[in-house]
Amino acid sequence: MQEQVREWLEQDRVDIFLGYKMLQGHPLPHCFTKENIDEIDKLVVGKARYSLEKMATKIAAKHPDLKIGLLTRDCNQRALNVLYVWNQLKPDNIETISVNCCPSKLKEHGDCSYLEPEQAGFLKKMVGMDNNMEVEAAEAFSQEDRFNRWMYEFQKCIKCYGCRDICPVCFCKECSLEHSDLIATGTIPPEFPIFHLVRAVHMAGRCIDCGLCEDACPAYISLRLLYRKVNETVSDVFDYKTGTSADQSPFNMLGDEVTLEPKPI
Ligand code: SF4
Ligand code: SF4
Repeated sequence: MQEQVREWLEQDRVDIFLGYKMLQGHPLPHCFTKENIDEIDKLVVGKARYSLEKMATKIAAKHPDLKIGLLTRDCNQRALNVLYVWNQLKPDNIETISVNCCPSKLKEHGDCSYLEPEQAGFLKKMVGMDNNMEVEAAEAFSQEDRFNRWMYEFQKCIKCYGCRDICPVCFCKECSLEHSDLIATGTIPPEFPIFHLVRAVHMAGRCIDCGLCEDACPAYISLRLLYRKVNETVSDVFDYKTGTSADQSPFNMLGDEVTLEPKPI
């Protein structure tokens, strides 16, 4: 990999390469350049995962013609597809080197062995939502029980915005979560469930189930479960699997005229 990145930079196939560099024993995201070519000796894969594609989006917004190379796992590639669909990155300006995390453990929904959720404790299992739960299992609770369990999860939120900030497909310049007309400001926990539902709605057709939000959440809220449900609805209504393709979006599928019958959600 080091040789390939060196070659790409020397031959100007890419202007920069986003990968990981060991720093004080930790693999941290790093921008490799031709000017500092010797740094490539410290390029590692490691287990660390950051939103390299989010960094690419921010860089591309300032330098739209820059050719950006980056290291991708399966989840990064899904995020790139979403960013192409939403015109946040141009596929022609991106080159990737893929690494396979652990194919035997990749589950149907794109789950990743790097982010196997911790086992839920007794209280969370009794009154909250287990992060390991599948959507069907969550839906087996009665509506009232389900509502109470989600409220238990949401009231733990400390409004750190970690879920939003780490998310590779959160790219809006103005964030609804900070809009006082939508969500009361100056309170912790944030107004719930609206804070979490606003984010969940915005993840429809965007969330690629990378799990970074849940990994970052200090309150260990079952965020992936919530977003999986939202995307299940997108899949049912639009027959759209988020992140699987770079050239389709639910909006394209609607065509000029909306002919779909509304479905009960
Ligand atoms: S799992 Fe979380 S961080 Fe990953 S894309 Fe979905 S909302 Fe964003
Ligand atoms: S990361 Fe967790 S605690 Fe922080 S804002 Fe998001 S849901 Fe709330």
